[in-house]
Amino acid sequence: METNFSLLQLQDEGTAEAEKILRTCVHCGFCTATCPTYLLLGDELDSPRGRIYQIKHMLESQEPATGALVTHIDRCLSCLSCMTTCPSGVDYGHLVDYTRTHIAKTHQRGKADQMMRFFLQTILPYPDRFRLALLLAKIVRPFALIIQMGTGKSQMGQRLTAMMRLIPRHIEAPTRHTMPGVFAASKGVDQSPKNTNTNIKTKRVALLTGCAQPVLDSDINAAAIRLLTRMGYDVVLPEGEGCCGALVHHMGEENKAKGHAKRNIEVWCREIDTNGLDAIVITTSGCGTSIKDYAHMFRHDPLLSEKAQKVSNLARDICEFLNEIKLPISPIKLPDISVAYHAACSLQHGQHIKTAPKSLLKKAGLTVRDIAESHLCCGSAGVYNIMQPELAQKLQQRKCANIETIQPDVIAAGNIGCITQIGTGTKRPVLHVIQLLDWAYGGPKPAKLSK
Ligand code: SF4
Ligand code: SF4
Repeated sequence: METNFSLLQLQDEGTAEAEKILRTCVHCGFCTATCPTYLLLGDELDSPRGRIYQIKHMLESQEPATGALVTHIDRCLSCLSCMTTCPSGVDYGHLVDYTRTHIAKTHQRGKADQMMRFFLQTILPYPDRFRLALLLAKIVRPFALIIQMGTGKSQMGQRLTAMMRLIPRHIEAPTRHTMPGVFAASKGVDQSPKNTNTNIKTKRVALLTGCAQPVLDSDINAAAIRLLTRMGYDVVLPEGEGCCGALVHHMGEENKAKGHAKRNIEVWCREIDTNGLDAIVITTSGCGTSIKDYAHMFRHDPLLSEKAQKVSNLARDICEFLNEIKLPISPIKLPDISVAYHAACSLQHGQHIKTAPKSLLKKAGLTVRDIAESHLCCGSAGVYNIMQPELAQKLQQRKCANIETIQPDVIAAGNIGCITQIGTGTKRPVLHVIQLLDWAYGGPKPAKLSK
């Protein structure tokens, strides 16, 4: 794509990088075929190619983001399906991140929008605040109808309704699996040869505790800890670790995202330097994509670029890690269960991990069924299901309808956002892949399957 930036404009690092990305787009339009918002709305302006044109115009003209552009960028899920499809290697993910930052700096949002964004940014990244907010929301939920009547069909009303719908039945109290500590490798475990692909030396990993996940389902990390320790790994939940920053980053709050990331980088580097780490294991694929991108986030930072690179190099999705170490023990015989595997966008498009979860589930003796249109987002996408409830619900219904056609016993995914989103649209149990793997390799039967 031809661009028209002045030399002065290109002296700005961000603009110069955006311009490089823009130039790689050959406007072929292949990406439109797999873009969920284009599929739902049929409007070129809500397609990747259309968004790229709008971004180019905004950056070239040096104008503040217009309301129209903000609408089309806000509707983008950052699912990165377009990047998987693009034959030209357009780095849409970083382009839209840069655009969101530009919007945050140049566009004045309405008061209600600002309030909702502030609320989400202040609550969700902090487990204690999030837990308290959910408890309060549970108390208020019986009055949801009154709230809906009060707020009508306004955007705020729709968002509040979406939030009410997403409140889980059970809110998890902190457990020892969600607090700092070290879980020692089980004694008498298989001491198989160390994997040369990952340069494993210490059999010690850090596990990201995360922010929302431990409040919504603490058994996910508990299952990961049980399985990893049975495989002979010490698992550390380092003191001081917190939200990965993805949530605020996708809202254009670059500095806040960097603050979260910086704290985690320092915490993990301290662990690497003192006790050594083979990997930083992550059970929420949305966070994994962000942590793998820390190297890019701090690429121009002389103090942090090396450390960020080290952290990104060690970051592994739990299934990616288990696939690399080639599970050294054999599974037990499970009942005959069919599993519909839902590929989270952050895993399949963001991290290009497509086969590992399915092959691990199959090796564990489970029957794995593919879901039609598996490239499409379920509508979760961070806080998209709150901020864009109408589109998110359409995507959820489409995903659940596709799941129903294969009638699985269980649905499995690698991201708490997807698990929550799909879970509110189906009566079938929705689990994290690691909960099924833990069960297959000697752990307890997941509680959701005992109901
Ligand atoms: S597929 Fe890639 S090159 Fe083609 S229009 Fe989309 S982003 Fe541009
Ligand atoms: S990230 Fe997803 S929603 Fe956004 S343009 Fe790409 S495919 Fe469409």
